[in-house]
Amino acid sequence: MTSRITHFIDGRPVGVDTARTADVFDPATGTVAAQVELADAALVDRAVEVAAAAGRDWRRMSLAKRVQVLFAFRELLAARREELAAIVTAEHGKVLDDALGEVQRGLEVVEYACGIPHLLKGGYTEGASTDVDVHSIRQPLGVAAIISPFNFPAMVPMWFFPIAIATGNAVILKPSEKDPSAAMFLAELWREAGLPDGVFNVVHGDKEAVDAILAHDDIASVSFVGSTPVARYVYEQGTARGKRVQALGGAKNHMVVLPDADLGLAADAAVNAGFGSAGERCMAISAVVAVEPIGDDLVEAIRTRMATLRTGDGRRGCDMGPLITAEHRDRVTSYLDIGVEEGASLVVDGRDLDDVDGDPAGFWLKPTLFDHVTPEMRIYRDEIFGPVLGVLRVPSYDAAIELVNANPYGNGTAIFTNDGGAARRFQYDIEVGMVGINVPIPVPVAYESFGGWKASLFGDLRAYGPDGVAFFTRGKVVTSRWLDPSHGGLNLGFPQHD
Ligand code: NAD
Repeated sequence: MTSRITHFIDGRPVGVDTARTADVFDPATGTVAAQVELADAALVDRAVEVAAAAGRDWRRMSLAKRVQVLFAFRELLAARREELAAIVTAEHGKVLDDALGEVQRGLEVVEYACGIPHLLKGGYTEGASTDVDVHSIRQPLGVAAIISPFNFPAMVPMWFFPIAIATGNAVILKPSEKDPSAAMFLAELWREAGLPDGVFNVVHGDKEAVDAILAHDDIASVSFVGSTPVARYVYEQGTARGKRVQALGGAKNHMVVLPDADLGLAADAAVNAGFGSAGERCMAISAVVAVEPIGDDLVEAIRTRMATLRTGDGRRGCDMGPLITAEHRDRVTSYLDIGVEEGASLVVDGRDLDDVDGDPAGFWLKPTLFDHVTPEMRIYRDEIFGPVLGVLRVPSYDAAIELVNANPYGNGTAIFTNDGGAARRFQYDIEVGMVGINVPIPVPVAYESFGGWKASLFGDLRAYGPDGVAFFTRGKVVTSRWLDPSHGGLNLGFPQHD
């Protein structure tokens, strides 16, 4: 008997016996670990009704009291981070250390949200006009929906919900149906932290649940993270129905290596950022751009490092775990044949699975390296989202910039160089939202904001940081006069300041 994962509504697990379900796998063993219920529109309605009512009371609660709940949540999360990481590893497959890292980055957003009284302070202008004062405040939206991807089941929801809740909203989280248990753990922590029932709800599901969220009049905002086609769909459908939407999409992240770079450092970075979490990161490096003449040396340095990596069960101290599902593993693996057919050189073939430290039925593909990739190839154009790294060779810095800027995605990028001038030029020239200088995965700290450009983000406001506070609140400006309220008598002219 596998366990059944239900929804979490109004402070408790809620199951529907007749619901459709989806299998949740342990990707390291290939076995079905649980079945998750998939919500229909009626279930989404029920959750929204609860959230809307709970949110009305929650926003009235003082900032001091809200912050107490946030601090309690922060303490519980910090104390139980290893349990959460183990849940992530069991359903996602990423190695335990990496899972702990994602919990830590989520925790940092919770800590940022603990400072919400300061972040929500408005402005006050005394005497904007004669005896007239003006002040600005920010108020919550109401019910905020979060739709998250499989690859960061703990961190990505935490990019949004700590700030949504701190600013006085109620939340409906629709996590990926592939690894739904982290969301349930987080819901339980909120309950223990003293969050009133109904402020944080988890609704599991697939497209049907997403469509019900997009159609629901009482959902004010949608924060989406996932692949670009779905991000575009969510953005278009959500905004057409008057919702505020931020939809973060897919990526193809380039790492440019200039000839003066420390090649050892660059090769370490390419391997870490290319194969960490089996390449299933939106900030993974998937294209290394070698500015000649260093191509041969760089490829060799990457190849030798790859030979030392251990792929296997994330609970066994390996470097890299399995892919999320058998279908995804097959799709990623198909790109190895595609790349060879397209004429790229397959330097390291990840299909040799003899030394994998895990159950043979797990969803394995080892780190794979292509050289002589060109921009026309599908292995370059498509987001493969697996442990497949491609090296492109270009003759100059300008050619590297042109290549990166011509790509439709603009999530993250990095340059490796010892030339400060070249690095500064890169940060100016590059059309990408997050830039690393000798840093391969430039995920911003919690007090900045996370978001790419172009097909990597639809909407104007990024995740967390100051943009997160702006996203989850609406500005209001109040103009008031208390002295001489009869000022001016009848006058139908447009108000002027004096
Ligand atoms: P996905 O687009 O398949 O799914 C994301 C969410 O949308 C899930 O909750 C899923 O249930 C739902 N969904 C899937 N298909 C849908 C459809 N047709 N209609 C409506 N909803 C649908 O993405 P994924 O495979 O879970 O995650 C990997 C993708 O997410 C990659 O493309 C990766 O680059 C991207 N990602 C981006 C960022 C970022 O910050 N830009 C961060 C993490 C992941």
